[in-house]
Amino acid sequence: MLILDGKAASAKLRNRLKNEIADLAPKAGRPPGLAVILVGEDPASAIYVRNKEKNCKETGIISKAHKLPADISQAELEELIISLNSDDEIDGILLQLPLPKHLDSQKCLELIKPAKDVDGFHPENVGKLTLGLPAFRSCTPAGIMALLQEYQQDVSGKDCVVVGRSNIVGKPLALMLLSRNATVTICHSRTADLKSHVQKADFIFAAVGIPAFITGDMVKPGAVVVDVGINRTDDGLVGDCDFQGIQHKAAAMTPVPGGVGPMTIALLLKNTVNSWKIRKNL
Ligand code: NAD
Repeated sequence: MLILDGKAASAKLRNRLKNEIADLAPKAGRPPGLAVILVGEDPASAIYVRNKEKNCKETGIISKAHKLPADISQAELEELIISLNSDDEIDGILLQLPLPKHLDSQKCLELIKPAKDVDGFHPENVGKLTLGLPAFRSCTPAGIMALLQEYQQDVSGKDCVVVGRSNIVGKPLALMLLSRNATVTICHSRTADLKSHVQKADFIFAAVGIPAFITGDMVKPGAVVVDVGINRTDDGLVGDCDFQGIQHKAAAMTPVPGGVGPMTIALLLKNTVNSWKIRKNL
């Protein structure tokens, strides 16, 4: 079975971005800038933010972290977003989710200027994805598409089953697959007989958030399996797919960790560099 190595593909892409930044920064007058907003002390979010900062630094992107107390008001958070929208040194704004319950995430996401929405969550960017227009694409599904491309896994004309319909993974991924001419089925918590759908798939994308949700008996021999899940268990980080049970049936599969996760970060950096290039006419 071929391992779709997201760690290696991510390193390759980040290296390309690093060279591009080194080439273009003298002309731009400054490197790309990413503002990262973290509200509160959620440990998983803190790890994600640290990881993003580390990757920015290694690639040559200036990341400016705004670590805010958990009890910050909606008005104060909005004020920060508005000031970052008009900050000339900032090309991308990332609001780390989830936010504490008293804050309105959707309102904050909609306040981010679409041209700086490097996470691709603003309704304008999601609408453009739906219409097939250029825009910032959500990083996890865009990272999956880049990984498939890296390993020449062409979805055109293939039966693709996406399990999960969230706004950040399942739905945008389904649209991206459709734009590459796949025949797409979206399964979710109310799907009747999910197994029968998955068993027919040439490509399976699992974005559910349940360990070992996809098992070997659900996989058609020769299928490609992309495991988006990140689940913290007593055995460490695991995905949504039973790797051991699937590896003898699938033709290719992403590992967890080291599959989709590293690609998500690489695409965030790519979106930030693209925003910088547009804003600086590079
Ligand atoms: P979510 O909770 O928003 O959505 C989960 C989806 O799974 C829902 O649409 C739901 O309908 C579906 N689902 C839940 N139970 C189901 C069931 N029993 N049968 C069928 N479908 C069911 O989650 P999300 O934000 O889309 O994330 C999904 C997983 O991907 C999580 O493990 C998350 O940690 C991971 N994730 C990974 C990355 C990455 O970079 N690798 C990025 C985002 C999310």
